[in-house]
Amino acid sequence: MSNETNHHDERRCPLCGEINQCGAESGDCWCFHSKVPMALREQIPTELRGKSCICRKCVEDFKAQES
Ligand SMILES: [Zn+2]
Repeated sequence: MSNETNHHDERRCPLCGEINQCGAESGDCWCFHSKVPMALREQIPTELRGKSCICRKCVEDFKAQES
């Protein structure tokens, strides 16, 4: 039995795989102060929701596409 398929690094963005730089573990993070659009959250695989933060770049890219 291998648990490799279940392994996920919560420091990485579930969308692009880059380091998400979430500071939630240290008690404060940019993502607490920046709204992540629901439409973007919906792109996160279900099993990763609530575990991994989207990185700032993905949020900003998404917002740039919208405007
Ligand atoms: Zn990202």
